[in-house]
Amino acid sequence: PTRIVVVGGVAAGMSAAARARRLDESAEIVVLDRGEHVSFAGCGLPYHVGGEIASADALLVQTPDSLRAALNLDVRTRHDVVALDAAARTVTARTPDGDRTIAYDALVLAPGAQAVRPPLPGIDSPRVRTLRTVPDAVTLRGWVGAGARRAVVLGAGFIGLEAAEQLAAAGLDVALVELADHVLPPLEAELASLVRDELTRLGIAVHEATAATAVEPGPEHDVVVLGDGARLPADLVVLSVGVRPDTAVFEAAGIATERGAIVVDAHGRTSLPGVWAAGDAVVSTHAVTGARRPVPLAGPANRAGRQVADAILRPATARPIPPAVGTAIVRVGTLAAGLTGANRAELDAAGIAHHTIHLHPSQHAGWFPGATQVHLVLHVGEDGRILGAQAAGADGVDKRLDVLATSIRGGLTAEDLVDLDLAYAPPFGAAKDPVNLAGMLAANVLDGTLRLWHAADLDDVEATALVLDVRSAAEFASAHLPGALNVPHTELRARLAEVRDAAAGRPVRVTCQSGVRAHIAHRVLVANGFDSASLSGGMLTLRAAL
Ligand code: FAD
Repeated sequence: PTRIVVVGGVAAGMSAAARARRLDESAEIVVLDRGEHVSFAGCGLPYHVGGEIASADALLVQTPDSLRAALNLDVRTRHDVVALDAAARTVTARTPDGDRTIAYDALVLAPGAQAVRPPLPGIDSPRVRTLRTVPDAVTLRGWVGAGARRAVVLGAGFIGLEAAEQLAAAGLDVALVELADHVLPPLEAELASLVRDELTRLGIAVHEATAATAVEPGPEHDVVVLGDGARLPADLVVLSVGVRPDTAVFEAAGIATERGAIVVDAHGRTSLPGVWAAGDAVVSTHAVTGARRPVPLAGPANRAGRQVADAILRPATARPIPPAVGTAIVRVGTLAAGLTGANRAELDAAGIAHHTIHLHPSQHAGWFPGATQVHLVLHVGEDGRILGAQAAGADGVDKRLDVLATSIRGGLTAEDLVDLDLAYAPPFGAAKDPVNLAGMLAANVLDGTLRLWHAADLDDVEATALVLDVRSAAEFASAHLPGALNVPHTELRARLAEVRDAAAGRPVRVTCQSGVRAHIAHRVLVANGFDSASLSGGMLTLRAAL
């Protein structure tokens, strides 16, 4: 019988092991992990820190005993693989009882990623903790329970946001520090500002565009020093500034890597014969841009691990592992924010021409109680293909993202989004669902029915065009762009001469609150011979983007 050895017993590794057993009852399947736990819910760790998941036991989805009983897996914890000999087909594991050399017929590498530890003075203070393992979460939870009052979270990516939210919910004073211009850097700035506002509402002090330069350990507490001079006292520090593949052992064995990530083919095969790899440690190809980098997300890791087992045991029929779309979501207080596919920066870096649209529809019929806005950003290619989407809001964000993620995987276009039949009754959606509306708006832009201008064009617009604000007089009075002419959209048809006089030959750039009324006004203006464009997402997007 075949002996399959798996290194790393969590997402990708345990998925591979479990699938392998279901495909082959006779194989010997050994899973090695350096930690005390396997099959733990890494994604749940932040929620134990804050106490929302009260018991750490809930994070242990399986144990070596349960895995032996259900799947006859030979799971060996505290086995740190320190060497791979691909010629001899062995790995060597460091264990509490000394080194063990284990032979394999097929080897699956699923070592995941390590938290990046920037080389800052004081970073090794015991109060600085990363959040990767169950013991990390238990330790942080213990400090919270023991009366820690002030926390500093370094890095406002997904994990940093979750940690900050949880620490604030547990009653700590939390400061969140992000080197990039805005929190959740992969999110477009116009949505990230909503996340920042919610963090602030939760009482979290947000420090953007600055980084820690040192940690000063002290007897009572540490002080985190920022590049902008701020000094933040901290009873605990969560370090979440990114991850890198945990592959040094395998690189030393000669496996092909790119910037530390293991190179695999579409079936998870590495450059070494008999060795497969999956998860956070491998290079993945972006489904939209073709960019090559690891995608450190649980869904792709679990699914790729499963497919690697197929590649080993059913090579003739194994399906290729698809390029990753990269869909992610986070909850911050009452807000959900997420993204799928490529963002603007990735599209620009890949040189992919695209249109971007913004809209702010209600998550369900506006007239049904409880309506709130879903703020949507959609990037579409010149050919109409959906390239990326982002969303933020209090409700209904996850389902729109999932439909859009499905659309990207399926290669759908804006017109296909118009045609989607989506679940609708007043508590759940709208007869024109936000996803349908996004498709309609994008299709209008692509066929020229709607011409947009964007927040980024503001300086140019103010210098060269008439800004026509078609909101009500009361809305206009509350705040408006300098030099704007106010003609409510309901009065526009009767007041076109006034607009023509004010424009004095300049183009007209229309704005309203969310883009809906400006679109109507734009069509009136175009029909009357004006050079017109409508502000994408209206003042809501403009204010959030600036
Ligand atoms: P891992 O699950 O990290 O497993 C790797 C295992 O290999 C580890 O147990 C490690 O100890 C072991 N190992 C490494 N090297 C060796 C060695 N040499 N010898 C023996 N054992 C070794 N993703 C999402 O999609 N959504 C989320 O909400 C989400 N939240 C997250 C929250 C946190 C706090 C963290 C840390 C991650 C989160 N993720 C989330 C990411 C997700 O957990 C990872 O993408 C996924 O676990 C990667 O799976 P993997 O199998 O590649 O690696």
